[in-house]
Amino acid sequence: PDWPDKGDVILENVSVRYATGLDPVLRDVNVRFKAGEKVGICGRTGSGKSSLTLALYRIIDTFQGRILIDGVDISHVPLLTLRSRLAIIPQDPVLFQGTIRFNLDPEGSKTDDELWQALEIAQLKPVVSELHMTLDAQVTEEGENFSLGQRQLFCLARAFLRKARILVMDEATASIDIKTDKILQQVVANAFADMTVLTIAHRIATILDADSVLVLSDGSVEEYDTPSNL
Ligand code: ATP
Ligand code: MG
Repeated sequence: PDWPDKGDVILENVSVRYATGLDPVLRDVNVRFKAGEKVGICGRTGSGKSSLTLALYRIIDTFQGRILIDGVDISHVPLLTLRSRLAIIPQDPVLFQGTIRFNLDPEGSKTDDELWQALEIAQLKPVVSELHMTLDAQVTEEGENFSLGQRQLFCLARAFLRKARILVMDEATASIDIKTDKILQQVVANAFADMTVLTIAHRIATILDADSVLVLSDGSVEEYDTPSNL
């Protein structure tokens, strides 16, 4: 099967910075996220949570240590491969201008049935049907015709179609209506039950539900333990 088929993530002495000459924003981080584990990541603003996701995508430079996914050092993986195999859902995602089909499946490799199934799993079928939309309906510029929570659900549908083993979810800090928020939690819990899920957590419920919680403080690991031990 395609790499990564398990979703085991190891950070070994990882230090990360935005550019040469700048101070590191992650310092000597050693953690292992086991395959299938649900991890909540928390810490104050500026502690390095988003930087950790950027390092996984190699958007910023790991200048010391290494990140292994299923035993492979990601610095040896071609960028396009790496980025297509990890699913990262940003806090405030924008959709592409184009059809729903294109937004779900930019490579055009899925059947209509698969696309509808993904919409169903992401609980977007009622949304799309209510708007009398087909797969070829246009998403307006940056997805403004969908709410923030719905845009995150579209990203989850895309991640599901890609069969990504690793999902990184940056929970929205902006207000999402309670119903959509519940749906988001459910979709992540159900559709990604077997996957490794790292959630940058802004909600206490996410932290309590996690298998383990990583607390970052000023770029270093402050705690990494089960929620009940914290
Ligand atoms: P928040 O909870 O506010 O999202 P965070 O934990 O995600 O915070 P990061 O965005 O990872 O924090 O920021 C960690 C450090 O990296 C901060 O000191 C920040 O100033 C710095 N930083 C973030 N983006 C850049 C950038 N583009 N260039 C240089 N430094 C940056
Ligand atoms: Mg952040």
